[in-house]
Amino acid sequence: MLKKDGVPSPEELEGVKPSPERLKAGPVVIVECMQEIPCDPCYYACPRDAFRPFADINQKPEIDYEKCNGCSICIANCPGLAIFVVDYTYSEEEGLLKIPYELKPLPEKEEEVTVLNRAGEEIGRGRVVHVLNTKKQDRTAIVSVAIPKDILMDARHIRLRRGSDEG
Ligand code: SF4
Ligand code: SF4
Repeated sequence: MLKKDGVPSPEELEGVKPSPERLKAGPVVIVECMQEIPCDPCYYACPRDAFRPFADINQKPEIDYEKCNGCSICIANCPGLAIFVVDYTYSEEEGLLKIPYELKPLPEKEEEVTVLNRAGEEIGRGRVVHVLNTKKQDRTAIVSVAIPKDILMDARHIRLRRGSDEG
């Protein structure tokens, strides 16, 4: 549970997930912003108005998933690192996860990485397919990782394997 250990429960996650039909239709945003905080840059970042207007700045974001095309612009605009994009249509076996990444060094294209869940536990391996790091993003890179579909929804972070003896 988010309030207890910082990790959202399955029930809390259900509330911020697009429908199975929308997930199957192509890349789409997932906004894991579950507490009322005075914050709204996500609303202003989206060029497609997929974030519904906030009633007040403390409101949790509400998404119109039909307007979202998974462009990922909002990811680097979220100071809480709470926004991800998933794409189940990436390939037969793998989905694509786009995550905010602020650690150094940055991963490189084609690099194999360890995939972590929301609790920071290892759940598998992935392959970096793209790293977007422009000046406009202000130190929040967007890393796209190909990940087996069966762990895509649990995957939320990566760890570099460089220099490790994990094999
Ligand atoms: S991924 Fe793109 S279209 Fe979707 S909510 Fe974010 S900025 Fe808007
Ligand atoms: S910018 Fe991020 S932390 Fe702020 S309201 Fe939007 S999703 Fe939540």
